[in-house]
Order: sequence, then structure tokens, then C-alpha cells
Amino acid sequence: MIIVFLGPPGSGKGTQAGILAREHGFRHFDAGSLLRAEVESGSELGEEIASYINQGRLVPIRIIGEITKKFLRETQSDRTMFDGFPRNLEQAALLSESLAALNQDLDHALYLHIDEDDLLARIVNRRVCRSCKRIYNLVSNPPQQPCSATGEDCDLYQREDDSEEVFGRRLRIYQEETAPILRFYEEQGKLRTIDADADIPDVSERIRGVLGMARNGKA
Ligand SMILES: [Zn+2]
Repeated sequence: MIIVFLGPPGSGKGTQAGILAREHGFRHFDAGSLLRAEVESGSELGEEIASYINQGRLVPIRIIGEITKKFLRETQSDRTMFDGFPRNLEQAALLSESLAALNQDLDHALYLHIDEDDLLARIVNRRVCRSCKRIYNLVSNPPQQPCSATGEDCDLYQREDDSEEVFGRRLRIYQEETAPILRFYEEQGKLRTIDADADIPDVSERIRGVLGMARNGKA
């Protein structure tokens, strides 16, 4: 089974991808790590990649295609997951071509959907404690005072990434880039939209339902 994971920042996509990898044996395609590994291998392709990275340039799509095909050839797992890739329509088309070249096909494009306003509210209310380092939410998960770890009141601050300005911008960029990918997979009948406005175990259950998997099992 080959799946693509799609979801805006803050949707819990990374968490859910981790659960699929740990509990259901999915091999995880991570473009950044694969590019670094290729550079470290000292191969011809690796040297080419390094030349782009060292000049601060984006690695061209042709090379991403090579890395993708290599990963698919070398992956002996019957369960593969793409997360953080594809990021745009060009990459989505590349992935389809790479799979077709190996007589493989994508099974599902899982899209974790959360209403934009709910997502923004969730993120801008997030706070981190300087003392105990825990992450809280002013609305849904406020800290106990005094803190059970330090015995003193938590010293909360907001990460810059969580501000309405920074997060709102990331969200808009994501949506602009992702909307065409969603249409691309919808036209192929592969898009599975999952309501991700729920607790982590509930969202996991919905994902397992879509993939036809039992909990803690490989069925
Ligand atoms: Zn604290």
C-alpha cells in the first residue's frame, strides 16, 4: 500500500504519520534525509546534490525524481508513506510518474482536514513554559498552577511560529500550494478527506478505518 499524507501545518499530520510508521510498519519517505544520505554516500548524484545545496539553490525536480525512484526500488516494505512530499502539483505528477515507471500506483491520498478558523484558534492559543518546557493551550489545555514539575507557576510564552501573523502566512502558502494537489488526487479518485478536528486517538481510528486496518495490527 502506498499513501500520501496531506494536511496543513498544525493538523497533527506528523504525529499521525509517526503512528502509522511505528504501529503499522509504514516506510517513511523523507526527501530531506534521503538527499543528505545521498550526499554522504559520495556518489556522483550525491556530488551533484551537494553542489546545489552548497550554493543555497533548490535541488531540481529531476534529482528529486531520481531519489524517489531509488527509494521505491530499495524499499522492501509493502507499506510506503509520503509525508511532506509532494508539495506542489509538479511534484505530485513526478511521484505518479516515478511510481508508474516501477509498475506501482498510489492507493490513497489522505488529507487531514481542519476548518481554517479552528486551526488558527488552536495554534495562536498555544503556549510553551520556559521552566517545564511543556506545551499548553490557553483554551483547551491550560497549565495547572503551580506547575507539577517545578512547584512554581509556569512561565508561558508564545513561539514566534505560533503567532497569528507567522502561522497565518504559513497556512495561506500551504493552501495555495495544496489546493491543486487535492484536485489532482480527487480527479484520480484517490483523495480521502479525514476530519482531523478531534483527539489524536480518534483521528488515528479514522485513518485506520479509511485504510482498512485494525488497531495495533498489520491486518
Ligand atoms: Zn511549567
